[in-house]
Amino acid sequence: MTREHAGFAGVDQDRYARPRGWASVERLELGAETLPGVGPTMAKRLRALGIATVGDVLLHAPRRYERAADEVAISQLFGDDEVAIAGVVRDVRSRRLGGRRTIVTARVEDDGGSISASWFNQPWLVDRLKPGTHVRLRGKLGRHGFAVKSYDVGEARATADFAPVYPASEQVPSWRLRELARAALDAHGAAIRGALPSTLELPLRRDALAARHFPADEAEAELARRRLALDELVTLQLAVARSRDDDAVAVALPAPGELIERYRAALPFTLTEHQESAVMQIDADLARSVPMQRLLQGDVGSGKTVVALYALLRAVESGRQGALMAPTETLAEQHFLTIESLCAELGVRCVLLTGSAGAKRVREAIATGEAHVAVGTHALIQQQVEFHDLAVAVVDEQHRFGVEQRKALAEGRTPHVLHMTATPIPRTLALTIYGDLAVSEIAKPPADRKPIVTAWVGAERSSAAYERLRAHLDAGRQAYVVCPLIEQSETRLARAAEAEAERLRRAELRGYRVGLLHGRLKPAERRDVMGAFKAGELDVLVATTVIEVGVDVPNATIMIVQEADRFGLAQLHQLRGRVGRGAEQSYCLLISRKKEELTDTAQARLQSLVDTTDGFELAEADLELRREGQLLGTRQSGWSDLRFTRLREDRELIEQARGLARELRDEDGPWQDEVDRLGGTPDA
Ligand code: ADP
Ligand code: MG
Repeated sequence: MTREHAGFAGVDQDRYARPRGWASVERLELGAETLPGVGPTMAKRLRALGIATVGDVLLHAPRRYERAADEVAISQLFGDDEVAIAGVVRDVRSRRLGGRRTIVTARVEDDGGSISASWFNQPWLVDRLKPGTHVRLRGKLGRHGFAVKSYDVGEARATADFAPVYPASEQVPSWRLRELARAALDAHGAAIRGALPSTLELPLRRDALAARHFPADEAEAELARRRLALDELVTLQLAVARSRDDDAVAVALPAPGELIERYRAALPFTLTEHQESAVMQIDADLARSVPMQRLLQGDVGSGKTVVALYALLRAVESGRQGALMAPTETLAEQHFLTIESLCAELGVRCVLLTGSAGAKRVREAIATGEAHVAVGTHALIQQQVEFHDLAVAVVDEQHRFGVEQRKALAEGRTPHVLHMTATPIPRTLALTIYGDLAVSEIAKPPADRKPIVTAWVGAERSSAAYERLRAHLDAGRQAYVVCPLIEQSETRLARAAEAEAERLRRAELRGYRVGLLHGRLKPAERRDVMGAFKAGELDVLVATTVIEVGVDVPNATIMIVQEADRFGLAQLHQLRGRVGRGAEQSYCLLISRKKEELTDTAQARLQSLVDTTDGFELAEADLELRREGQLLGTRQSGWSDLRFTRLREDRELIEQARGLARELRDEDGPWQDEVDRLGGTPDA
């Protein structure tokens, strides 16, 4: 009797209640060191990859598979296609490149020729590549001969044909993980059970796991991935569903009326198709007395704010209030600047409440209803601000409303909530998947937008970058210069930014009007600087990452990011989103140390930014780089539990899982055990 059938085939539930399936769970929880060939050292290395048990080995599946590469004779190597070569190692050596970087080079010879092949930062390879060893290498011609991407030593052939790419470490390479998966499947495959009802007629979980590690082809691997993704998604959604408050009631708003009409007319553009459909979905939500819980997702600059204001005005139109909450004061002020002028034009009173700004009077205005729209940080709810009648709350980036906070917002009544986000990882991933949210997406920016051109420039050519920037200024445009990130206090950061702004005023930006923005400025000063930049009274804004989100000046068309290699991928994407907000072609110049001095991951990060402006693609790249480069030490709850889900491709699967979770929530079955094992509610 499998666990799938236990809950569905009329089997006596009580008799089999908890212990059923227990034995199989236990077997998968055996330590990885029980597998053949795993000693204490390997066990430790595996733990560094987040693999502690047999079950972990099985779940540690390939992220993707290489496509087959042609095998060519060494004498025929040419161009920069990725190919495979096969031959015998003649000699091998390792040397340092400065810092902690090393290069291993081996002379590899086949029947007709020989070439020097190179591996970076894997000094231990010297011992594996003894002269006389047969190797098969996959890679391409590079500056140091044949740059090896993956390789087989001895008889193995996986590399060139259909190489599974595991989240691996230098000490536990892909091929080793593959061997372990084989061993785990052989020894414990029979113990793998699925947790979803058999009535769904899904492929068996154990078959899916086997197919993920050893697929016959890519289609099979993909099918298996989706099967496994559904499992994990349902479990997570169930955890969310368990914690949901079903009794919350909101006011149902009447259909859009005259204020919305004026709003549309006041906008200097018409809404795009994507914006229109988001607006329609919001209207449908607002018409119900079930509180809206919707995520509005769209890349930076795609036009979310316009939609958010629409939702707020819907509340105002029916005589109630709207609130917009941002994660930082700078961002709240920014939003305020953006929407206040429009609101004023419509006769809608808008106030800003941050931790510091003239709190008392503003609070009163909010409490009496004199203020129609309140913009602020999360202080808006955390400090128990009393609203006269809050109907719609927009939450920009971050922080899902907890039940407690919702209570604080409105006694008895819960506002409709629209969450807004531009960062699909990891916060949005968490929101999309864990949050019990419906999703609206603005998949495309307004049509007149040109993709931002991104260039990656070595520090030695930074003067050329500034020359380019000055050309934009001379043409009447504005620019940003982002200061290096130093991992120290906000105060040190501010000081460094001040020094840098001073330096630029005397050197590269001499004669231009340069403003400075950092996190240590007083709110009023910050508002002044932003206001001046927006009004065109400053040419350049030198800033720390405080400009990361929300700053909206369409006339700014070029950005220089200094020491870009220090920033994370998501952060750089956010920063870059400050330009390209108008019809003009915009540029982002990433300055870094010499490319050769950067780690592979840093190079890959910057290259991805050059290659694409698609936030979702970057999110995936980021996940991959994180998983493969920097080891996930501990398994955290939350998004890192999602091993198989792909945030972009799996939208439908996520929706399907949401539906399933609703159906299964109140039914007893093995899926409930899975949720228990997850440890209750994941934190979003
Ligand atoms: P997001 O909040 O998604 O980053 P914004 O709402 O701030 O994007 O919009 C970015 C810029 O695009 C703003 O200057 C905004 O006025 C403009 N914009 C928004 N919607 C449209 C549209 N439909 N057509 C043209 N421009 C638009
Ligand atoms: Mg915005």
